[in-house]
Amino acid sequence: MRIADRWFLRRRLADGVTHLWEPHVHPLLRCNIWHVQGRDRDLIVDTGVGVAPLREGIADLLDKPVVAVATHIHWDHVGGLHEFEDRVMHRIEAGRMNPYDEFHTIVRADFPDVVLSGLAALGLPIESETLIDALPHADYDPARYRVQPTTPSRSVAEGDVIDLGDRHFEIFHLPGHSPGSMGLWDAAAGLLFSGDAIYDGPLIDDLPDSNVPDYVGTMRRLRALPVATVHGGHEESFGRARLVALVDAYLERRS
Ligand SMILES: [Zn+2]
Repeated sequence: MRIADRWFLRRRLADGVTHLWEPHVHPLLRCNIWHVQGRDRDLIVDTGVGVAPLREGIADLLDKPVVAVATHIHWDHVGGLHEFEDRVMHRIEAGRMNPYDEFHTIVRADFPDVVLSGLAALGLPIESETLIDALPHADYDPARYRVQPTTPSRSVAEGDVIDLGDRHFEIFHLPGHSPGSMGLWDAAAGLLFSGDAIYDGPLIDDLPDSNVPDYVGTMRRLRALPVATVHGGHEESFGRARLVALVDAYLERRS
């Protein structure tokens, strides 16, 4: 396998948001990583798979204290969480990250057949031996990939606030995909970071810890939100019209 020039790519968006992603990670596990500029503190939403160190990859963006939030603890979202001093998780999921005993791997052979066929049916087939197509450095061994367990420095729940000084984000508890899935809502900007509760791609509600009735409730709540922009856990960002279409398609299927 070749060695990657850069592990994290990025682009600057509106509202002081920078979108980061890992181009060499399989689309299934390639989560969106968000950096949000604040006056007193910056915010990181999700931290990637943890194949390469995130802090080092974005060092030039970090000129003030930063708080890292995990929208939920699936392994594609929390790989770099341990690198930050300020780590925020929903209290329902906080205890499950240390030790990190959830299923996590970047090797195809580790996936049960039923999972592989389910993913193929969702349009996310895993055809290569590993879920990375480049190495972060020459002696990296994908078989030794592990998520580094960590604990939150702060556990949060519905209604709690992440304050960046000149802007703040309210925690929305958005269960369904996972029990402690959460979103971050900036009401002033109409900005929602939604994690895996909603994104513009196949939504996953059949994991062992998923709950369809909870997911339906989350979708109804999101539909009523006066949102301008949704930055999801995967795929491209979108506005309210697309949010409503995605919610309605889900509710049509599941309620
Ligand atoms: Zn997830």
